Amino acid sequence: MSDAPQPPPPPDPNASAPPPLPDPGAQAAPPADDASGAFDPAEALRKGSEQHSMALKHETQASRTYPCEACGGELHFDIPTQMLKCQHCGNTHELVDVDGDVKERDLREALALVRQGKMQRSANFLTDEKEIVCQNCGGHTTFTGSLTANKCPYCATPIQRDDVHAAPERLPVDAVLPFSVDQKSAEDLIDKWINGRWFAPSEFKTYNRTGSFQSVYMAYFTYDADTQTHYSGQRGITRTRTVGHGDNRRTETYTTWHHVSGVVGNVFDDIPILANTGFEKKRIDKLEPWPTETAKPYSAEFAAGHLARTYDHDVEECLGEATSIMENDIRATVRRDIGGDQQRISSMNINWREMTYKHMLLPLWLLTVIYDGRPFQVYINGVTGEVHGARPYSKVKIITAIALALLVVILIAVAVSAAGGGDSP
Ligand SMILES: [Zn+2]
Ligand SMILES: [Zn+2]
Repeated sequence: MSDAPQPPPPPDPNASAPPPLPDPGAQAAPPADDASGAFDPAEALRKGSEQHSMALKHETQASRTYPCEACGGELHFDIPTQMLKCQHCGNTHELVDVDGDVKERDLREALALVRQGKMQRSANFLTDEKEIVCQNCGGHTTFTGSLTANKCPYCATPIQRDDVHAAPERLPVDAVLPFSVDQKSAEDLIDKWINGRWFAPSEFKTYNRTGSFQSVYMAYFTYDADTQTHYSGQRGITRTRTVGHGDNRRTETYTTWHHVSGVVGNVFDDIPILANTGFEKKRIDKLEPWPTETAKPYSAEFAAGHLARTYDHDVEECLGEATSIMENDIRATVRRDIGGDQQRISSMNINWREMTYKHMLLPLWLLTVIYDGRPFQVYINGVTGEVHGARPYSKVKIITAIALALLVVILIAVAVSAAGGGDSP
C-alpha cells in the first residue's frame, strides 16, 4: 500500500439500487446497503487494493460515501483522531493524500471564469455531493453520504426531502481548516456560554430538542496581493508661536505643509472574506484570526459526516471587501511614509502586481435556536473554540425577577414599618 494520490474509482456498475434518500428523521446512518447488495465490501476491498487507496470511495446514484473496509459502514471525519472513523464498527482509517502545499490560484483567471460562467470542478472536488437548499432561508449546504442533519443549521427549519438537489458547479475548494474542537468540547463551550447569560430563555438551554447544533464548514475566499503604490501628498509639521502684544500675548499652534511623494510596497497574505449569507457577519468576523497557515489541501474526506456551506458570494463579489481592507492598510503605510505630525494624501496609484486567492472551508460549530419566531445563532470557532453569539432575553424570566425584587422590597418595607410601629408609644 502506498499513500500515492489516487483518482476516485469509476462508478460501480453493480450499484443499481435506488439512491438512498436521506431520511430527515434519521440521526445516524445504518451501514450502507447491507440488504440491497448494492455495496460489496469485499469487491470494494479488491478494487481498493488495486487502487492502493485506504479510504475507498463508493459511488451510488445519490451520493459518494466512504465505506469502511471492515464492515462497509459509512466513514466520517473524526475530530479527536483526525482520521476517518466508521460510524458502525468504530474502525479508523488514515486520510489519503492530505499532505502537500495549499495552492493559490490566479485571481484574474478565476474572475474571467466566473464572468464566463465556466466553472469547473477539480479532481478533488466531490463530484457527487448533494446539496440541501433550505426552503425557508435559502441556504445552500452540501453533504456527503447520509444526511446527518434534520434541521436547517441556519434557521432550524426541518429539512424536507424535496430540499435535496444535485450540487451545481462552483469554483473548486482549494483548502480546508479541519475541525479540531470535537462535539463534546463544543457542547461544553455552548453550555458554559449559555449558563453565563442572564435571563436566557429555557429554549436556549434545551437546544438539543428545540434548535439545531451542527458542525458546518463555512465558505471563505482568502486573498493575497503584492502591491506597489505611488503616492503624492503633504506632510504637516505642527509648531507653536507667540502672537499678539501686551495682555493679548499668547501662544498658538500652526501647521506648515510640504509636498511629498513616494513609493510604498505592501504584501498581503490570506485576507479572509466570508462568502456566505445567513450568518451575522459582524459576529462571525469576531471569530478571527483563523490559523489559515495550517490549512490543508482540500480533500472531501475532511467534510465526510459534516455539512459544508457553499458560497453565496463568488470570488468577484468578495473581492471588493478584500480590496477595501487592503487599501486601508496601504493608506496607513502611506501615512507612515509621509511622516510628520499630520498627513494629507492627494493621490494613491496602486499597482496590484500579483493577486491570488483560495477558496477555503473554515470550521464552525453552529447553534441555531428559534425564539419568538426568529433564529438566534451562536458560533464556535472550530479550531480555537472562541464563542460569539446572539442571545434572546426571556420576558417571563425578567418579569419574574422584577416581581421577586419588588416583593423583597415590599417585605422589607412591611418589616421595617412593623418594627417601627412596635417602638412607637
Ligand atoms: Zn466499519
Ligand atoms: Zn434555513
